[in-house]
Amino acid sequence: MVERTFTVTGQLGLHARAAAKLVRVASCFESSLRLERKEGGRSADAKSILSVLMLAASCGTELRAIAEGPDEEKAIDELGCLFSGGFGETSLVALPARTEHPEIRWKGLGVSEGIAIGRVLRMHNGTKYVYRSRLDAAEIDRELRRFRAALRLARCQLTAVRERAARDLGQDQAYVFDAHLLLLEDKKLLGDVEKQISQEHANAEWAVRVVGDHLVTVYSEIEDAYLRERESDIEDVVQRLLVALSGERRPRRKLSKDAVIVSQDLLPSAVAEMDFDYARAIATDTGGWTSHTAIIARGLGIPAVVGLRDFFRRARTGDQIVVDSLGGEVILHPSPTTLERYLSEFGNRATSRSVETPRLEEGPLRTVDGLEIRMRANVEVPAEFAGVRRYGARGIGLYRSEFLLSRGGVMVSEDDQYAAYSEIAKLAGDDGAIVRLFDLGGENTGDLMAKPERNPALGLRAIRFGLFHKEIMRTQLRAILRAAAEGRLDIVLPMVADVGDVRSAKAMIEEEKSRLEKQGLQHGHVGIGAMIEVPSAVLTAGRIAGNVDFFELGTNDLVQYTLAVDRSSDHVAGWFRTLHPSVLISIYQSLNAAKQAGIPAIVCGEMASTPAYAALLLGLGAVDLSMTPANIPRVRRSLSCIDSRDAKAIATECLQCGTADEVEHLVRERFRARWAQIFPLDSLPRLREEN
Ligand code: PEP
Ligand code: MG
Repeated sequence: MVERTFTVTGQLGLHARAAAKLVRVASCFESSLRLERKEGGRSADAKSILSVLMLAASCGTELRAIAEGPDEEKAIDELGCLFSGGFGETSLVALPARTEHPEIRWKGLGVSEGIAIGRVLRMHNGTKYVYRSRLDAAEIDRELRRFRAALRLARCQLTAVRERAARDLGQDQAYVFDAHLLLLEDKKLLGDVEKQISQEHANAEWAVRVVGDHLVTVYSEIEDAYLRERESDIEDVVQRLLVALSGERRPRRKLSKDAVIVSQDLLPSAVAEMDFDYARAIATDTGGWTSHTAIIARGLGIPAVVGLRDFFRRARTGDQIVVDSLGGEVILHPSPTTLERYLSEFGNRATSRSVETPRLEEGPLRTVDGLEIRMRANVEVPAEFAGVRRYGARGIGLYRSEFLLSRGGVMVSEDDQYAAYSEIAKLAGDDGAIVRLFDLGGENTGDLMAKPERNPALGLRAIRFGLFHKEIMRTQLRAILRAAAEGRLDIVLPMVADVGDVRSAKAMIEEEKSRLEKQGLQHGHVGIGAMIEVPSAVLTAGRIAGNVDFFELGTNDLVQYTLAVDRSSDHVAGWFRTLHPSVLISIYQSLNAAKQAGIPAIVCGEMASTPAYAALLLGLGAVDLSMTPANIPRVRRSLSCIDSRDAKAIATECLQCGTADEVEHLVRERFRARWAQIFPLDSLPRLREEN
């Protein structure tokens, strides 16, 4: 056995290219070769790229090399040459700026209050997600063969890429792909994947994802910023493997305690996979007040800034970041002075996730004049479920079921959906829950749509999607009907255009009931409601009301479609005017149509979550509101202090206005005059000139 100590002298440390060279050299010898960090105790098999990368040896790291075998002397000598020659790249590599990043600020729109200091976790929209299915013992061999075939394909592709890179960019650049190839040959990595398949009975996609995620997590904890960024090499290889395999349900992504999720856009399907227990904040390039990212962030009570345009491209996983939703900005690489300022101003609140525990008022909510208002909860992801009871919601007014789905292209099975809806029913108890059929399409589709649409918000969205993809809708209906045998569940149809959509959906529901009966499967009674959120539904609300058991007013979309303003676009955020008279008139007419038909109407858009807007809704005739659970206490506090007759008088005046500006002025004036104690100035709509 021979031993020698080497020092990593390359500016970038033992990064992927250098590691690839080392592994190639080490693999030429028969002797075993180990590398041990003198500090930190980590050791690596010098013939395994993965193992060498995990050493996280940055510049200056001392490594003890131990060779054992017939050609040990020569092996150590060759390694020595590599180290002393700086892996042949000292003159080729420009030192990337790493520790001296200047502080950079990006302006966006703060959509969920708070300040957070944490580390960036980039979430790629293009990432391929996978599902978990349990294999029977007889299927394992076939799955292993499938995995090995994918591996062969990925290797062929990479060999071609490496050759092209060597030809076009030079041998040194080609070493990056050599590192990727070595990863695909790495016995540990492949062994771990195969172990997942054969021992855990996991499908190949899942096995690759689990092993890949584990490695990425280990890598993302490396302190050296440049080496840490190399986690992208691992992710790259994982993605390449996944391209050859396909899947449906994704694993939930575990987040580290200070993760700030940075993404171009968070699709519901991406949100659904995350473990939100730790997420400290969200920052996205796109989005507006009513985009689902914003809704989720408010639901979780974590700060969020959206509409940051090209921030995602600039942020790197692991970078330090401040998310300041009050100031509507994010700060990358905050300077010590900036950090100190935030820490002294916001203290622990900025570095830990705090859930406000409000004083809970019990019993029904009544206005000063005795009008009873029902407050229900909107929920999307399990992390919000605890809030339903904590904040005293009377049932679940809106369960956005599309958050159950994966982006992998295949639906969640009927049984899995049944389990999810049963859980929702249990959570809601006697007050019941309303499950909205998948509102897919628009911003929510992910890979479910074969081709991107030219105008997704006006495309095959919501109920249209279900009526077109009948099997998807039927599966969902069956799951809900079965779960309704165990608890109170109702169904709401998203974005119906008119009574025709309602009739088609109801016919399908009846057919599925009969099928369940024929199969001897139990199902429960469900009420059927219509989401009123497009102008055609408002204009024909009277006719729709005669055909459903309840209405739900989706004010987010109602604003979007009435004003023709994309709710997710920061470019037109200035035109998204919730208090536009046309929107108020639409709400008023829809509420009246429901009243005349004797059916309840629940207002479940974001408008209901904001105290001043909720007061106006009351004035328009709403008595049933559904909102993010965390907002229930403050809406409750405000509404319990007002007289609904005053609200009605103000709303009636607003209905006469011609523009959103006029309504906003009026609201501020009247609210200040009547309810100055209840609605502080900053809780009232901001005037255009103040923005
Ligand atoms: C709405 O449109 O107001 C609504 C409640 O649904 P979503 O925000 O999910 O479209
Ligand atoms: Mg909607």
